[in-house]
Amino acid sequence: MNIYADNAATTKMSENAINAMLPYMREVYGNPSSLYEIGQKAKEALEEFRSRAAAVLGCEAREIYFTSGGSEADNQAIVSAARSGEKKGKKHIISTAFEHHAVLHTLKKLEKEGFEVELLDVHSNGVVTADQVAKAIREDTALVTIMYANNEIGTVQPISEIGAVCREKGVLFHTDAVQAIGHVAVDIKRDNIDMLSLSAHKFHGPKGIGILYARKGIFLTNIIEGGAQERGKRAGTENLPAIAGMVVALEDATADLDGYAKKLTPLRDKLIAGLDEIPYSELNGDRDARLPGTVNFCFEGIEGESLLLLLDDKGVSASSGSACTSGSLDPSHVLLAIGRPHEVAHGSLRLSLSEDVTEEEIDYLVKSVKEVVEYLRNMSPFWRDLVTGKRPHVFAE
Ligand SMILES: *Cc1c(COP(=O)(O)O)cnc(C)c1O
Repeated sequence: MNIYADNAATTKMSENAINAMLPYMREVYGNPSSLYEIGQKAKEALEEFRSRAAAVLGCEAREIYFTSGGSEADNQAIVSAARSGEKKGKKHIISTAFEHHAVLHTLKKLEKEGFEVELLDVHSNGVVTADQVAKAIREDTALVTIMYANNEIGTVQPISEIGAVCREKGVLFHTDAVQAIGHVAVDIKRDNIDMLSLSAHKFHGPKGIGILYARKGIFLTNIIEGGAQERGKRAGTENLPAIAGMVVALEDATADLDGYAKKLTPLRDKLIAGLDEIPYSELNGDRDARLPGTVNFCFEGIEGESLLLLLDDKGVSASSGSACTSGSLDPSHVLLAIGRPHEVAHGSLRLSLSEDVTEEEIDYLVKSVKEVVEYLRNMSPFWRDLVTGKRPHVFAE
C-alpha cells in the first residue's frame, strides 16, 4: 500500500487546478502588462481571478497581492509592518516561539536592525492565548504576528480572540494562515485580521504561488523591486497559470469545509487512538484545537529519521515535523516550544492526511507505525536503558 501522509508539507494538485492552468500556458500566454489583445486578455483574466480570490476571502480585490508563496507573503507582511511602525517610533514586535521559519527568520533579521522581538511562550497543548497577547502589547508595539494553525503539530490558535485584542489596542495583526486556508473556516473580518498569508500548494494548488491579503490603507513595502505589477507593491510578470490554478483550488478547498471536517476528523481521531496504544508515546498538541488532518506524535527511544526511512519502505510518506528541518540534526523548535525535552523531540512523527484517505489506510498507517517503533526500540541501546531503569522515562506507559 502507498500512502501519502505528508499533506502539511505539500499536496497533490487537483485535476481542476491543473486544468485551470492549461489555457494560460497554451492560449492566453500574453504578458498582462502588454497592450495588444493577448496581453489584455491575460490582464482581464488576472483581475477576474483576483476578484474570485477576494470573494472567497471576503475582502476587496484590491486587498489581494499575488506573491511567490507563503514565505514571501510572510516576509512582506512583517517587513511592511516593521517599516510603518519604525516611522512612528514603534519597534516592538510580538510573535510566538513556534512560528514557521519564514516568520522567525524575518524577525531575526529585524532584530539585527534594532527591533525588539518578543516571542510568546506556547502552552504545552500547542496554543497561545489572547490573554498572553493582551499582556504583551505595549505603546510601541508595531505588529502582532501569530500563525493560524501550526504546520508541525496542527494546533489551531484562537485567532478570533487574538484579532479582537489587537484591534481594540490598535495594533496591526498578521497571521500566517498557510495551514489554515482550505482546512478550517477563516473569516478575515470576524477575526479582525489586518494581513494574512496563504500558499496554494497546501490546498491542492500549484507550488510557487500565494497571496498576501493586506487590508486597504495598510502600507506595504516592496520585497521584490522592479516593475509596477501588483499596484507597484510586488514586481515581476504575474504567474497567471499558477494564479489560475491557485484560485480554482482555493474555491474548491473552501466550498465545503464542514463536509471536509466531518469526513476527516473521525479518521484523524482513529489514527490518534491507534497511535495512543503505543507505549511511551504522546500526541503533540491539543486533541481538539487541531486541524482536521494533522497528527503529530513523540515516541520515546526513537530516532525520527530512522522511523521515516522504515515507513518509506512500507510505502508511507511521512515527516518528522517540518520539511524545512529534515536533514538537520536539530530537534524541532516547535516541539521544544511546547516543552518536549530534546530526547523525545528527536523521536517525532507527523502524519498529515488528505480528504481522500480511507479507513483501511488509517489501519495500515497505525499498523506500520506500531511495527516500526517496536523494531527500532528493540535495536536501540537508549531504549534498553529506559527498559532497565538506567534512564527515567519521560512519558507514562
Ligand atoms: C508551507 C508553509 C509556509 C511556506 O509557504 P511556501 O509557499 O512554501 O513558501 C509558511 N508558513 C507555513 C505555516 C507553512 O506551512
